[in-house]
Amino acid sequence: MTDMTGWSVERLHADHAQALREDKVLYDSETGHQRLRVIENPTFGRVLTLDGVVQVTEGDEFIYHEMLTHVPILAHGNAKRILIIGGGDGGMAREALRHDNVEHVTMVEIDAGVVDFSKKYLPNISAGAFDDPRLNLVIEDGAKFMKDSDETFDVIIVDSTDPVGPGEVLFTDTFYGHAKTRLAGGGILVTQNGVPFLQGEELTNTMRAFQALFDDWGCYMATIPTYAGGPMAFGWGTDGPGRDEPLEVLSARFHKAGIETKYYTPEVHKAAFALPGYVKKLLP
Ligand code: SAM
Repeated sequence: MTDMTGWSVERLHADHAQALREDKVLYDSETGHQRLRVIENPTFGRVLTLDGVVQVTEGDEFIYHEMLTHVPILAHGNAKRILIIGGGDGGMAREALRHDNVEHVTMVEIDAGVVDFSKKYLPNISAGAFDDPRLNLVIEDGAKFMKDSDETFDVIIVDSTDPVGPGEVLFTDTFYGHAKTRLAGGGILVTQNGVPFLQGEELTNTMRAFQALFDDWGCYMATIPTYAGGPMAFGWGTDGPGRDEPLEVLSARFHKAGIETKYYTPEVHKAAFALPGYVKKLLP
C-alpha cells in the first residue's frame, strides 16, 4: 500500500510499521513535550498516539492495564501503597484503585497535557480514577521523583512510553536503582518493556539491571494487539516471595478482591511467566 492517506502510521522500528485507519482525527497538537493525537478507529475505538506511537486504545487497553496492576498487586497480597510512573491516560490508576485494599496511589506523570487531554477525550479509560481521593497526581519527571522521594511503596508500576524522548530516562540503571530504594519490604517493581521480538535489546538491558538489583527478577508476557510484533514483556523485580505464590493463593486473593476482569485470571497470571525460547535467550 503506498497511499496511506487516512491512516495513522506508526514507525517505531527500523523495518516494521503498523497502520490504523483513521475514521476521524479528534485531536492533533504539540504539548511542548511530545506530539499528541487522538484518532478514532472502527475496531479499536479511540486511539492515543504520542510522537506517532500508539500509547493506548479503548479496544485493547484492558490487557495491558490489568496485567501491570493485578499481577503485582495480587502476588504481593497486601499492597496498600502503589506508585505509578507515567500512566497519563489514567488506565493504570483505574485498575489499581479497583482494589479496596489499596489505600494510596501516587501517579507521577511528566506531561500534564496527557492527563488533561485524556480526561476530555478518553474518559472511558480513566473511568473516574482522577476523582478518587486515594489518588495523588504529581506532574513531574518520574526519574526525578524516584531520586528525590523518601516514600516507599508496595508496588511500583512503570507505565512509560518507549525509550525515546522523555521516556528514555525510565529505562536506565540509575532509575531502576532508585526504584529499588523506594520499595517497601516484599515490594514488587514491574515495568513495560516493549515487544521483545522487535525490541529485544530493551528487554536485555532492563533484565541486566534487574539481575544486579533483585533476588527475584525476570519478565512475564501478554499480547496486546496494537503493540505490534508479538507479546509484550513486563519486567519483574522483587526481593520478596511474590512470584512463588501458588495458584490457590492467587485465586483466593482474586475472589476476595471481588474484581471482574476481562483478561486477568489467576491461571493467566501464573502462565504469563512461562517464557518462549527466543525471549529466554534475551535474558542474561
Ligand atoms: N501503554 C503505553 C505503551 O506501552 O506504549 C504507555 C502508556 S502512556 C500512559 C506513557 C506515559 O508516560 C505518557 O503519558 C508519557 O507522558 C509518560 N512519560 C514519559 N516519560 C516520562 C517520565 N520521564 N516521567 C513520567 N512520565 C513520563
